[in-house]
Amino acid sequence: PSGCGKGTVLKEFFAQGGEAFLSVSATTRAPRPGEENGVHYIFLQKEEFERMIEQGEILEHASYCGNYYGTPRGPVYERRERGGNVIREIEVQGALQIREKCPEAVLVFVLPPSLKELERRLVDRNTEDRETVDRRLSAAAEEIRMSYQYDYVVVNDALDDAVQELKTIFAAEKLKAANRKKMIDEVLEL
Ligand code: 5GP
Repeated sequence: PSGCGKGTVLKEFFAQGGEAFLSVSATTRAPRPGEENGVHYIFLQKEEFERMIEQGEILEHASYCGNYYGTPRGPVYERRERGGNVIREIEVQGALQIREKCPEAVLVFVLPPSLKELERRLVDRNTEDRETVDRRLSAAAEEIRMSYQYDYVVVNDALDDAVQELKTIFAAEKLKAANRKKMIDEVLEL
């Protein structure tokens, strides 16, 4: 959910040497102060976003609190073709679409320690008015119910612990049989 600290966990994950490509989302919401087009988001008009959906240029998208958010397809596939991991920082509707389209995707849910704490973070962030905070809080409860469908849950209470949990997921995924086919084949070669 918005305000759970997905962005903060990822920033720290990368600061600690985490290796993956974080692709940039497109959105129709207005930029917040300090947000740059092409860096934090690709900011689009509704018509342009809808054109991209129609032309199959958007891998997944969701309507969240009155705005579109979505993943431009090109950069994700380019990176995947070169063999790298791609991270998407998105809400639940989009995550479940990604699973449909990319069954090998690993879904990690970032859980706040409590709804009360989430409210505090959204209010402290001071980027939205009270009405938007309330809408995001009720969306959060819905989203948390959907976390049962994810592969992993990271609790973002203490940041360092959350980052450690994310790193553990990366480590575990690398050891999965499906991701070690090459190694297994090599061992079988005489
Ligand atoms: P915010 O307006 O706070 O930047 O984002 C609102 C919510 O939309 C957050 O939960 C964020 O992770 C999610 N979001 C950001 N980009 C995408 C995207 O490309 N696709 C989907 N489905 N959700 C996104």
